[in-house]
Amino acid sequence: MTIRTRFAPSPTGLLHIGGARTALFNYLFSRHHGGQFLLRIEDTDRERSTETATQVILEGLDWLGLTPDEPPVFQSTRAVRHAEVALQMLEQGRAYRCYCTADELKQMREQALAEGRSPRYDGRWRDRDPAEAPPGIKPAIRLKAPREGETVVDDLVQGPVRVANAEMDDLIILRSDGTPTYLHAVVVDDHDMAITHVIRGDDHLTNTFRQVQIYQAMGWDMPRFAHIPLIHGADGAKLSKRHGAVSVLEFREQGFLPEALCNYLLRLGWSHGDEEIVDRAKAIALFDLDGVGRGAARMDYAKLTHVNGVYIRGADDARLTDDVLHRLAHRHDLALGAKAAERIRALIPQLKERAKTLVELADAASFLAHPLPLPFEPKAAALLTPEARIMLRDLAAALDAIGFSVAEIDAALRGFAEANGKKLGQVAQPLRAALTGSTVSPGIDAVLAALGKEEALARIRAASA
Ligand code: GLU
Repeated sequence: MTIRTRFAPSPTGLLHIGGARTALFNYLFSRHHGGQFLLRIEDTDRERSTETATQVILEGLDWLGLTPDEPPVFQSTRAVRHAEVALQMLEQGRAYRCYCTADELKQMREQALAEGRSPRYDGRWRDRDPAEAPPGIKPAIRLKAPREGETVVDDLVQGPVRVANAEMDDLIILRSDGTPTYLHAVVVDDHDMAITHVIRGDDHLTNTFRQVQIYQAMGWDMPRFAHIPLIHGADGAKLSKRHGAVSVLEFREQGFLPEALCNYLLRLGWSHGDEEIVDRAKAIALFDLDGVGRGAARMDYAKLTHVNGVYIRGADDARLTDDVLHRLAHRHDLALGAKAAERIRALIPQLKERAKTLVELADAASFLAHPLPLPFEPKAAALLTPEARIMLRDLAAALDAIGFSVAEIDAALRGFAEANGKKLGQVAQPLRAALTGSTVSPGIDAVLAALGKEEALARIRAASA
């Protein structure tokens, strides 16, 4: 049997990180078993579904490297098939036409609530002769659900969960206007797409009992179900905007690498010993559903940021450079020509050691692209005392006389400090201020080398004038 999983988002909002984690688990599970991962856009709610949301889902999955193995299935295009299956159930006596009016249903509901019962359809058309149907009423089709016994789901994460059939009423599978209900459409689609494992948020667990009844009515093989706990904020409340970024693309904007976000989301609710850093290849090798925990996972932005830092340090320099250039492109205060790009490229190996996000990285690199005069942070300006300026003028002369490799620069700085009876730091701090406008930067020799002799001397002279 080929394992086939799917991610089935409704395009009614953003692709949030809960959805991304569901997609990731489906993806990893299928890859681990050499199977396929599919995408179904559940756009049956025409009023709430938007083209933009669909685009955001596709873009988000693509960014996360969770591209489906087949073109996405759009649920709305399958309405005819959903109706066909409902009619088949009708023919087989597993469903029936219900001619209740909206008023009748409302009454039934109100009465149940008044009597303290949960509102449930009472099955009044279940065995009634359709010849008794009132004129002018278009019927809905309802599942003839079992009334005795129980429906059991042997969930791969939650274990066996059961509900008494008496607790469930005969659900509508096809509305009176001929449109399928959501629970019915999902079952028909999962069956037709040959899905073997349905991995989704545990908010869908109660739906599963209903869906199981539809599988049973059709006599179809059932997929295995795995309901994963939802992601909550650090305070334990359901994740929302007030917890910070929630949409996947927002994380991209805030400077997270997709592989770091995936690693973090994987570890949020799944574990393999104490390993924190689990890259894609390792995740595919290790992932299985028995490592998924049952408790609600809590989003921890500090931890995510830490993991991101680890991935940034390990990331390819050229990729990081491109990202930084892209992020800085809109900055009107910078001159992002070929020379600036070259300087950034040269210093990325040092810069990436300290950055926790790509936004921080871009920020830390921006001084390299700043045209003269540089803006000075107050602390940096304070270092440029009259004495320091005199020293910097002498230093410029010394640096002008040497080759500009890191080793030559390093030797020259040491020699200069020694000759002037200063500690290296006493030279380096005002120099850093002159070159970067700030008091923090990577090693000063690397900064000088990245700027190149001409630019470095121009900066030192400008600051010491
Ligand atoms: N469309 C549902 C949602 O976005 C998921 C349904 C499913 O995975 O079965 O929550």
